[in-house]
Amino acid sequence: MSGTLVLNATYEPLGVVSERRALILVLNSRATMIEDTGVVLHFTGGEISLPSVIKLNRYVRVPYRHAVPLSRRALFARDGGRCVYCTAPATSIDHVIPRSRGGGHTWENVVSACHKCNHLKADKPLKDLGWRLRSIPREPVGAAWRVLGTGRADARWVPYLEPFGVSSATA
Ligand SMILES: [Zn+2]
Repeated sequence: MSGTLVLNATYEPLGVVSERRALILVLNSRATMIEDTGVVLHFTGGEISLPSVIKLNRYVRVPYRHAVPLSRRALFARDGGRCVYCTAPATSIDHVIPRSRGGGHTWENVVSACHKCNHLKADKPLKDLGWRLRSIPREPVGAAWRVLGTGRADARWVPYLEPFGVSSATA
């Protein structure tokens, strides 16, 4: 059970809700099931598949820009799955300004790192090591990133996320 991907009427990904909540939206004709999970619920008088992807029947305006949740999966996706210091495959999260020196757990201060670099860096500032970042860490922008940030992307969701910048390699 990984939840249900909710798409706006325009197919823009909006977020993830529980399958139960998604089913209620479908049964109330507020949404249409696009993909099912293959899990069938039996009830008196019938049966129905739990939804994997639903699309809202009416367009909803997203009134404000949601922050992208900071997760290991989303961070590695932002940084291309590579250590920002040496480009080895990323295996850990590094705080650029170490937490022990007041660095925050924010998109602007976390990067993907390999275990070796993370270990070497420990709680030293970059300038003491003579290291540089390949790019300035920023919060990723876009609807698909919000979904990815939940850390629950399902393979069935990939075709709906790809047009919004999340590749199948990262979902
Ligand atoms: Zn490294």
